[in-house]
Amino acid sequence: MPESWIDLRSDTVTKPTPEMRQAMFDAEVGDDVYGEDPTVNRLEARAAEVFGKEAGLFVPTGTMGNTIAIKCLTQHGQEVICDARGHLLNYELSMTAWFAGCLIRPIHTDDGILTWDRIEKEIRPLGPHAADTGCIEIENTHNMAGGTVYPQELIDEICDKAHARGIQVHMDGARVFNAATAAGRCVKEICAGVDTVMFCLSKALGAPAGSMVVGPKALIDRGRLYRKRLGGGMRQAGVLAAAGLISLEKMPLRLGEDHANAQLLAEGLKAIPRITVTPEKPATNIVIFGVSGTGKTGGEISAALKRMGVLINPINASTMRAVTHYDVTRKDCENALEALKSAVIP
Ligand SMILES: *Cc1c(COP(=O)(O)O)cnc(C)c1O
Repeated sequence: MPESWIDLRSDTVTKPTPEMRQAMFDAEVGDDVYGEDPTVNRLEARAAEVFGKEAGLFVPTGTMGNTIAIKCLTQHGQEVICDARGHLLNYELSMTAWFAGCLIRPIHTDDGILTWDRIEKEIRPLGPHAADTGCIEIENTHNMAGGTVYPQELIDEICDKAHARGIQVHMDGARVFNAATAAGRCVKEICAGVDTVMFCLSKALGAPAGSMVVGPKALIDRGRLYRKRLGGGMRQAGVLAAAGLISLEKMPLRLGEDHANAQLLAEGLKAIPRITVTPEKPATNIVIFGVSGTGKTGGEISAALKRMGVLINPINASTMRAVTHYDVTRKDCENALEALKSAVIP
Protein backbone atom coordinates (compact mmCIF):
# COMPACT_ATOMS: atom_id res chain seq x y z
CA MET A 1 0.00 0.00 0.00
CA PRO A 2 1.44 3.43 -0.90
CA GLU A 3 2.15 5.42 2.29
CA SER A 4 -0.17 8.22 1.19
CA TRP A 5 -3.22 5.95 1.08
CA ILE A 6 -5.87 6.51 3.73
CA ASP A 7 -6.52 3.07 5.15
CA LEU A 8 -9.77 2.85 7.10
CA ARG A 9 -10.32 -0.87 6.55
CA SER A 10 -9.41 -1.81 10.11
CA ASP A 11 -7.25 -0.88 13.07
CA THR A 12 -5.31 -4.08 12.31
CA VAL A 13 -3.37 -2.13 9.66
CA THR A 14 -1.48 0.03 12.19
CA LYS A 15 2.29 -0.16 11.92
CA PRO A 16 4.63 -0.29 14.93
CA THR A 17 5.78 3.13 16.18
CA PRO A 18 9.48 4.13 16.05
CA GLU A 19 9.60 3.57 19.82
CA MET A 20 8.27 0.03 19.35
CA ARG A 21 10.81 -0.73 16.64
CA GLN A 22 13.63 0.46 18.89
CA ALA A 23 12.29 -1.62 21.82
CA MET A 24 12.10 -4.65 19.53
CA PHE A 25 15.71 -4.08 18.47
CA ASP A 26 16.85 -3.83 22.09
CA ALA A 27 14.65 -6.61 23.50
CA GLU A 28 16.17 -9.14 25.86
CA VAL A 29 15.02 -12.57 24.70
CA GLY A 30 15.10 -16.25 25.64
CA ASP A 31 13.18 -19.40 24.82
CA ASP A 32 9.60 -18.70 25.83
CA VAL A 33 8.55 -22.36 25.54
CA TYR A 34 10.99 -22.93 28.44
CA GLY A 35 9.49 -19.85 30.15
CA GLU A 36 12.85 -18.12 29.71
CA ASP A 37 12.01 -15.04 27.67
CA PRO A 38 12.31 -12.17 30.15
CA THR A 39 10.42 -9.71 27.95
CA VAL A 40 7.47 -12.08 27.43
CA ASN A 41 7.46 -12.80 31.17
CA ARG A 42 7.39 -9.08 31.89
CA LEU A 43 4.53 -8.51 29.46
CA GLU A 44 2.48 -11.39 30.89
CA ALA A 45 2.97 -10.20 34.47
CA ARG A 46 2.20 -6.60 33.57
CA ALA A 47 -0.94 -7.50 31.60
CA ALA A 48 -2.22 -9.53 34.56
CA GLU A 49 -1.55 -6.59 36.86
CA VAL A 50 -3.26 -4.04 34.60
CA PHE A 51 -6.36 -6.26 34.43
CA GLY A 52 -6.32 -7.28 38.10
CA LYS A 53 -6.03 -10.98 37.21
CA GLU A 54 -3.62 -13.63 38.51
CA ALA A 55 -1.83 -14.47 35.28
CA GLY A 56 -1.40 -13.58 31.63
CA LEU A 57 -0.56 -15.49 28.46
CA PHE A 58 0.97 -13.96 25.33
CA VAL A 59 -0.55 -15.43 22.17
CA PRO A 60 0.12 -14.66 18.50
CA THR A 61 -3.47 -13.72 17.64
CA GLY A 62 -6.79 -12.81 19.18
CA THR A 63 -8.38 -15.83 17.56
CA MET A 64 -5.94 -18.11 19.37
CA GLY A 65 -6.59 -16.21 22.62
CA ASN A 66 -10.37 -16.65 22.37
CA THR A 67 -9.92 -20.30 21.34
CA ILE A 68 -7.75 -21.03 24.39
CA ALA A 69 -10.01 -19.19 26.83
CA ILE A 70 -13.16 -20.94 25.58
CA LYS A 71 -11.40 -24.31 25.75
CA CYS A 72 -10.36 -23.59 29.34
CA LEU A 73 -13.87 -22.60 30.42
CA THR A 74 -15.84 -25.44 28.80
CA GLN A 75 -16.16 -29.20 28.46
CA HIS A 76 -16.50 -30.99 25.13
CA GLY A 77 -20.17 -31.06 24.05
CA GLN A 78 -21.34 -27.96 25.90
CA GLU A 79 -22.78 -24.71 24.53
CA VAL A 80 -21.27 -21.22 24.53
CA ILE A 81 -23.70 -18.32 24.65
CA CYS A 82 -22.70 -15.29 22.58
CA ASP A 83 -24.19 -12.50 20.50
CA ALA A 84 -25.19 -13.56 16.97
CA ARG A 85 -22.80 -11.10 15.29
CA GLY A 86 -19.92 -12.02 17.59
CA HIS A 87 -16.40 -12.40 16.27
CA LEU A 88 -16.24 -15.76 18.04
CA LEU A 89 -19.11 -17.11 15.98
CA ASN A 90 -18.49 -15.47 12.62
CA TYR A 91 -14.80 -14.77 12.11
CA GLU A 92 -12.84 -17.51 13.85
CA LEU A 93 -13.40 -20.50 11.54
CA SER A 94 -15.66 -22.15 14.13
CA MET A 95 -12.72 -22.75 16.46
CA THR A 96 -15.19 -23.13 19.33
CA ALA A 97 -16.45 -26.24 17.57
CA TRP A 98 -13.12 -27.37 16.16
CA PHE A 99 -10.98 -27.08 19.27
CA ALA A 100 -13.34 -26.92 22.29
CA GLY A 101 -15.98 -29.24 20.79
CA CYS A 102 -18.74 -26.81 21.78
CA LEU A 103 -21.68 -25.38 19.90
CA ILE A 104 -22.40 -21.67 19.95
CA ARG A 105 -25.88 -20.64 21.10
CA PRO A 106 -26.29 -17.21 19.45
CA ILE A 107 -28.56 -14.43 20.71
CA HIS A 108 -29.69 -11.75 18.23
CA THR A 109 -29.29 -8.17 19.42
CA ASP A 110 -29.52 -4.74 17.79
CA ASP A 111 -26.36 -3.39 19.34
CA GLY A 112 -24.25 -6.44 20.14
CA ILE A 113 -24.86 -5.99 23.84
CA LEU A 114 -26.26 -8.99 25.74
CA THR A 115 -28.42 -8.59 28.84
CA TRP A 116 -28.96 -11.11 31.61
CA ASP A 117 -32.67 -11.39 30.67
CA ARG A 118 -31.75 -12.58 27.19
CA ILE A 119 -28.95 -14.84 28.40
CA GLU A 120 -30.99 -16.48 31.14
CA LYS A 121 -33.54 -17.76 28.61
CA GLU A 122 -30.78 -19.61 26.73
CA ILE A 123 -29.08 -21.25 29.69
CA ARG A 124 -29.66 -24.98 29.61
CA PRO A 125 -29.05 -27.70 32.16
CA LEU A 126 -27.74 -31.00 30.81
CA GLY A 127 -30.63 -33.32 30.01
CA PRO A 128 -31.69 -36.10 27.69
CA HIS A 129 -32.12 -33.57 24.86
CA ALA A 130 -30.13 -30.44 25.60
CA ALA A 131 -26.43 -29.81 26.01
CA ASP A 132 -25.58 -27.67 29.02
CA THR A 133 -24.17 -24.15 28.91
CA GLY A 134 -20.39 -24.17 29.31
CA CYS A 135 -19.72 -20.44 29.39
CA ILE A 136 -20.96 -17.03 28.31
CA GLU A 137 -18.95 -14.84 25.97
CA ILE A 138 -19.37 -11.07 25.67
CA GLU A 139 -17.64 -8.83 23.12
CA ASN A 140 -16.55 -5.39 24.35
CA THR A 141 -16.37 -3.29 22.25
CA HIS A 142 -18.63 -5.05 19.80
CA ASN A 143 -17.00 -5.00 16.40
CA MET A 144 -19.82 -5.60 13.91
CA ALA A 145 -22.40 -3.64 15.92
CA GLY A 146 -20.21 -0.55 15.42
CA GLY A 147 -17.79 -0.46 18.34
CA THR A 148 -20.53 -0.46 20.96
CA VAL A 149 -19.59 -0.47 24.65
CA TYR A 150 -21.16 -2.53 27.42
CA PRO A 151 -22.68 -0.46 30.22
CA GLN A 152 -20.77 -1.51 33.35
CA GLU A 153 -23.93 -2.52 35.25
CA LEU A 154 -24.72 -5.07 32.52
CA ILE A 155 -21.29 -6.70 32.71
CA ASP A 156 -21.46 -6.85 36.49
CA GLU A 157 -24.99 -8.27 36.45
CA ILE A 158 -24.15 -10.91 33.81
CA CYS A 159 -21.08 -12.00 35.77
CA ASP A 160 -22.78 -12.08 39.19
CA LYS A 161 -25.79 -14.00 37.97
CA ALA A 162 -23.78 -16.36 35.77
CA HIS A 163 -21.47 -17.16 38.67
CA ALA A 164 -24.48 -17.81 40.90
CA ARG A 165 -25.47 -20.44 38.31
CA GLY A 166 -21.95 -21.87 38.24
CA ILE A 167 -21.19 -20.50 34.76
CA GLN A 168 -18.06 -18.56 33.86
CA VAL A 169 -17.79 -15.50 31.59
CA HIS A 170 -15.18 -14.74 28.93
CA MET A 171 -14.76 -11.26 27.49
CA ASP A 172 -13.60 -10.90 23.91
CA GLY A 173 -11.94 -7.61 24.70
CA ALA A 174 -10.05 -7.29 21.40
CA ARG A 175 -10.80 -3.55 21.80
CA VAL A 176 -11.40 -3.36 25.54
CA PHE A 177 -9.07 -0.36 25.83
CA ASN A 178 -11.37 1.49 23.42
CA ALA A 179 -14.25 0.53 25.71
CA ALA A 180 -12.28 1.81 28.72
CA THR A 181 -11.58 5.14 26.99
CA ALA A 182 -15.24 5.57 26.04
CA ALA A 183 -16.49 4.60 29.50
CA GLY A 184 -13.86 6.62 31.37
CA ARG A 185 -12.97 3.55 33.45
CA CYS A 186 -9.86 1.43 33.72
CA VAL A 187 -9.85 -2.06 32.24
CA LYS A 188 -9.39 -3.54 35.71
CA GLU A 189 -12.73 -2.12 36.79
CA ILE A 190 -14.47 -3.13 33.54
CA CYS A 191 -13.18 -6.70 33.78
CA ALA A 192 -13.43 -7.18 37.55
CA GLY A 193 -16.28 -9.69 37.25
CA VAL A 194 -15.26 -11.63 34.16
CA ASP A 195 -13.21 -14.80 34.51
CA THR A 196 -11.02 -14.44 31.43
CA VAL A 197 -10.30 -11.61 29.01
CA MET A 198 -8.64 -11.68 25.61
CA PHE A 199 -7.35 -8.36 24.33
CA CYS A 200 -5.34 -7.39 21.25
CA LEU A 201 -1.99 -5.61 21.43
CA SER A 202 -2.14 -5.21 17.68
CA LYS A 203 -5.19 -3.34 16.30
CA ALA A 204 -5.72 -0.01 18.05
CA LEU A 205 -2.72 -0.46 20.36
CA GLY A 206 -0.39 -0.66 17.37
CA ALA A 207 1.83 -3.69 18.11
CA PRO A 208 2.88 -5.58 14.99
CA ALA A 209 1.34 -8.81 16.35
CA GLY A 210 0.09 -10.38 19.52
CA SER A 211 -2.79 -10.65 21.92
CA MET A 212 -3.12 -11.56 25.59
CA VAL A 213 -5.34 -13.79 27.67
CA VAL A 214 -5.60 -12.92 31.35
CA GLY A 215 -7.35 -14.86 34.10
CA PRO A 216 -6.87 -17.21 37.05
CA LYS A 217 -3.40 -18.79 37.28
CA ALA A 218 -4.54 -22.43 37.15
CA LEU A 219 -6.51 -21.72 34.03
CA ILE A 220 -3.72 -19.77 32.33
CA ASP A 221 -1.30 -22.63 33.11
CA ARG A 222 -3.63 -24.96 31.24
CA GLY A 223 -4.02 -22.35 28.50
CA ARG A 224 -0.26 -22.41 27.99
CA LEU A 225 -0.48 -26.09 27.04
CA TYR A 226 -3.33 -25.38 24.62
CA ARG A 227 -1.25 -22.60 23.09
CA LYS A 228 1.51 -25.14 22.38
CA ARG A 229 -1.03 -27.58 20.93
CA LEU A 230 -2.27 -24.86 18.59
CA GLY A 231 1.25 -24.13 17.39
CA GLY A 232 1.62 -20.93 19.40
CA GLY A 233 4.83 -21.76 21.30
CA MET A 234 6.94 -18.93 19.90
CA ARG A 235 10.50 -19.20 21.34
CA GLN A 236 12.28 -15.77 21.26
CA ALA A 237 8.97 -13.93 21.22
CA GLY A 238 10.42 -11.13 23.31
CA VAL A 239 10.96 -9.10 20.14
CA LEU A 240 7.16 -9.00 19.81
CA ALA A 241 6.47 -8.67 23.52
CA ALA A 242 8.74 -5.59 23.65
CA ALA A 243 6.38 -3.82 21.26
CA GLY A 244 3.44 -5.22 23.20
CA LEU A 245 4.66 -3.61 26.42
CA ILE A 246 4.62 -0.21 24.74
CA SER A 247 1.14 -0.95 23.38
CA LEU A 248 -0.03 -1.77 26.87
CA GLU A 249 1.54 1.19 28.67
CA LYS A 250 1.34 4.05 26.19
CA MET A 251 -1.08 3.46 23.38
CA PRO A 252 -4.33 3.43 25.41
CA LEU A 253 -3.70 7.08 26.33
CA ARG A 254 -4.33 8.30 22.78
CA LEU A 255 -7.43 6.31 21.81
CA GLY A 256 -9.68 9.31 22.42
CA GLU A 257 -8.25 10.82 19.23
CA ASP A 258 -9.46 7.83 17.20
CA HIS A 259 -12.91 8.12 18.77
CA ALA A 260 -13.08 11.83 17.92
CA ASN A 261 -12.08 11.02 14.33
CA ALA A 262 -14.77 8.32 14.14
CA GLN A 263 -17.33 10.89 15.26
CA LEU A 264 -16.07 13.32 12.65
CA LEU A 265 -16.51 10.61 10.00
CA ALA A 266 -19.99 9.76 11.28
CA GLU A 267 -21.08 13.41 11.24
CA GLY A 268 -19.72 13.88 7.73
CA LEU A 269 -21.38 10.69 6.50
CA LYS A 270 -24.74 11.70 7.91
CA ALA A 271 -24.51 14.92 5.93
CA ILE A 272 -24.18 12.95 2.68
CA PRO A 273 -27.65 12.34 1.22
CA ARG A 274 -28.89 8.71 1.34
CA ILE A 275 -26.18 7.48 3.65
CA THR A 276 -27.25 6.27 7.10
CA VAL A 277 -24.97 5.73 10.08
CA THR A 278 -25.69 3.19 12.85
CA PRO A 279 -25.19 3.86 15.68
CA GLU A 280 -25.50 7.55 14.74
CA LYS A 281 -22.82 8.58 17.18
CA PRO A 282 -20.09 5.94 17.34
CA ALA A 283 -18.92 5.33 20.90
CA THR A 284 -15.43 4.25 19.86
CA ASN A 285 -13.43 3.87 16.62
CA ILE A 286 -15.79 1.93 14.34
CA VAL A 287 -18.27 3.59 11.96
CA ILE A 288 -20.87 1.40 10.25
CA PHE A 289 -22.88 3.03 7.50
CA GLY A 290 -25.63 2.01 5.11
CA VAL A 291 -25.31 2.82 1.42
CA SER A 292 -28.39 1.10 -0.05
CA GLY A 293 -30.08 4.48 -0.67
CA THR A 294 -27.24 5.59 -2.94
CA GLY A 295 -28.06 3.14 -5.73
CA LYS A 296 -24.53 1.74 -5.48
CA THR A 297 -23.33 -1.35 -3.66
CA GLY A 298 -20.75 -1.32 -0.90
CA GLY A 299 -18.38 -3.11 -3.28
CA GLU A 300 -18.81 -0.48 -5.99
CA ILE A 301 -18.25 2.38 -3.55
CA SER A 302 -15.21 0.62 -2.11
CA ALA A 303 -13.73 0.24 -5.63
CA ALA A 304 -14.41 3.91 -6.46
CA LEU A 305 -12.78 5.00 -3.20
CA LYS A 306 -9.75 2.87 -3.90
CA ARG A 307 -9.19 4.70 -7.16
CA MET A 308 -8.96 7.87 -5.01
CA GLY A 309 -6.50 6.31 -2.55
CA VAL A 310 -9.04 5.65 0.20
CA LEU A 311 -9.57 2.13 1.53
CA ILE A 312 -12.91 1.28 3.18
CA ASN A 313 -14.30 -2.26 3.08
CA PRO A 314 -17.90 -3.20 2.49
CA ILE A 315 -19.49 -5.59 5.01
CA ASN A 316 -22.07 -6.57 2.40
CA ALA A 317 -23.86 -4.96 -0.57
CA SER A 318 -25.68 -2.40 1.60
CA THR A 319 -23.29 -1.73 4.48
CA MET A 320 -19.73 -0.46 4.88
CA ARG A 321 -17.38 -0.17 7.85
CA ALA A 322 -14.69 2.41 8.52
CA VAL A 323 -12.27 2.07 11.43
CA THR A 324 -10.09 4.89 12.75
CA HIS A 325 -6.65 4.29 14.27
CA TYR A 326 -3.38 6.05 14.92
CA ASP A 327 -2.17 5.79 11.32
CA VAL A 328 -5.05 8.03 10.11
CA THR A 329 -5.19 11.70 11.06
CA ARG A 330 -8.15 14.05 11.32
CA LYS A 331 -7.13 15.50 7.96
CA ASP A 332 -7.14 11.99 6.44
CA CYS A 333 -10.70 11.53 7.70
CA GLU A 334 -11.75 14.84 6.14
CA ASN A 335 -10.17 13.76 2.86
CA ALA A 336 -11.88 10.37 3.06
CA LEU A 337 -15.22 12.14 3.46
CA GLU A 338 -14.57 14.22 0.33
CA ALA A 339 -13.75 11.02 -1.57
CA LEU A 340 -16.91 9.35 -0.26
CA LYS A 341 -19.00 12.28 -1.41
CA SER A 342 -17.64 12.08 -4.91
CA ALA A 343 -18.01 8.28 -4.91
CA VAL A 344 -21.71 8.33 -4.07
CA ILE A 345 -23.01 11.60 -5.51
CA PRO A 346 -23.25 11.30 -9.31
C1 LIG B 1 -9.77 -8.82 15.66
C2 LIG B 1 -10.66 -9.44 16.62
C3 LIG B 1 -10.34 -10.65 17.24
C4 LIG B 1 -9.07 -11.44 16.98
O1 LIG B 1 -8.56 -11.34 15.75
P1 LIG B 1 -7.13 -11.85 15.23
O2 LIG B 1 -7.13 -11.33 13.86
O3 LIG B 1 -7.15 -13.32 15.33
O4 LIG B 1 -6.06 -11.25 16.09
C5 LIG B 1 -11.24 -11.17 18.14
N1 LIG B 1 -12.36 -10.50 18.44
C6 LIG B 1 -12.69 -9.33 17.90
C7 LIG B 1 -13.94 -8.65 18.31
C8 LIG B 1 -11.86 -8.76 16.95
O5 LIG B 1 -12.20 -7.60 16.38
